[in-house]
Amino acid sequence: MNVQEAIEKLNDLELKEFAYGHAMGILSYDDETVAPKGSGIPRGKTMGVLSELSYKLSTGDEARGLLDFLKEHYDELSPEDKRRTDLRDKSMRELRAIPVEEYVAYTELLNDASNVWREAKNKSDYKLFEPYLSKIIETQKRFAGLVRPDMDPYDYCLDQYEEGLTREKCEEFFGALRRRIVPIIEKVKAAEPIDDAFVRRRFPVEDQRRLSRALMEIMRLPEDNCVIGEVEHPFTTGFSKYDVRITTHYYEDNFLSSMYSVIHEGGHALYDLHSDDRFCFTSLEGGVSMGVHESQSRFYENIVGRSREFIELIYPEIVKLSPEMGKHTPEELYRAANVALPSLIRTEADELTYPLHIMVRFEMEKAMIGGDIKTSELPEMWNSLYKEYLGIDVPDDKNGILQDSHWSGGGIGYFPSYALGSAYGAQLLHKMRESFDVAEAIKAGEIGKINGWLEDKIWKYGSLYKPSELMEKAFGAEFDPKYYTDYLERKFTEVYRL
Ligand code: ZN
Repeated sequence: MNVQEAIEKLNDLELKEFAYGHAMGILSYDDETVAPKGSGIPRGKTMGVLSELSYKLSTGDEARGLLDFLKEHYDELSPEDKRRTDLRDKSMRELRAIPVEEYVAYTELLNDASNVWREAKNKSDYKLFEPYLSKIIETQKRFAGLVRPDMDPYDYCLDQYEEGLTREKCEEFFGALRRRIVPIIEKVKAAEPIDDAFVRRRFPVEDQRRLSRALMEIMRLPEDNCVIGEVEHPFTTGFSKYDVRITTHYYEDNFLSSMYSVIHEGGHALYDLHSDDRFCFTSLEGGVSMGVHESQSRFYENIVGRSREFIELIYPEIVKLSPEMGKHTPEELYRAANVALPSLIRTEADELTYPLHIMVRFEMEKAMIGGDIKTSELPEMWNSLYKEYLGIDVPDDKNGILQDSHWSGGGIGYFPSYALGSAYGAQLLHKMRESFDVAEAIKAGEIGKINGWLEDKIWKYGSLYKPSELMEKAFGAEFDPKYYTDYLERKFTEVYRL
């Protein structure tokens, strides 16, 4: 075998891996959107079979031999193929350290857990979900120990979502945020409240669906490659640059909730839809990490979507669908969309208090993975952290510990990416402004200008660079959370006329 032949084999292997991921992803998407409630048993079986086949493909003799060959000829590889080799090497180490039966059992556990979580959330009954959460935590700890015995288990969890992120870096980052954000929140609490009652007027779901389509058009989301589904907890699944599914949840008495879900998930979709063609069906296609992904989604949701200029842009569409809204000015809507008040639900939280919701989850995860807390004590810990960080009482588990789907899907270590992504976004804005007037572009509806800049700096690279490398290239500097805290201070001082 020569290098050329090895790369052909690698392409072939990655195409097959893509196919398994695609099939399993479609099953999960189907489960979350339209599959009947009782369809979990066959899906669990199919997922078990496919994940076993995919595991064997990725860790079998042939894949191992190929990886060894690529490592031996590493110096002869292109930068792209070096990165593919590095990524394979990392995941091979992880997959091989975990016995296949445990890997399959875990996939099945997660399938059951997400169904049970949904039921537990509906009934606001943590006890139903607790045994599953307990097993997920135990499995995560066990896998961390098997794969990286040299690493702190929570660092291992964080690294799954943001390569190179550690508990220590999080502590430092969250400490910096808390010092700057808490005093702003205190000032906002003392300021005159903003009247936002009018945004909770009835806005029929059918009209909200029309608004979603208008938003997708404004964002330049191609309808041939991106559709929207309706779910309990909005998310995005990118299968390839040709097929990305976004989702939302409509509330008749809160149209802003879905509007910002669509913009947020649309940001994820844009990222997935714009990998360079040459990365198609390889491990380099799609977003590199959750932090970078969240930097894109939260950039559109908050920096673009909650700007005065964007509200002015979308206002005529809103009034067309809901003429009652026309009694209020775009400025009133802008302020209503930026009400900052400590609240219970992360996904509904405003831009300013949002990072505190993440800090609660960071503390919880540290205790779950690193501490010796019992799973029965977790709701109490959650509630007391909400009291401490946000000053509010949690009435029940539905609005408390059961609100997010992440842990039921094994996503421990995911949450810090949201806050990190928000901070990345603010530094991207700072850099983008050197190229053009971002506010002007939004005002003129030229979202394509923003898309073009992000495509050039971030999207087209897929997973070619490590997250921190990619961001530093885009920033032209090191990451610094001060751009984020400066942005928040400037914005909320202005919104609340502090
Ligand atoms: Zn997101």
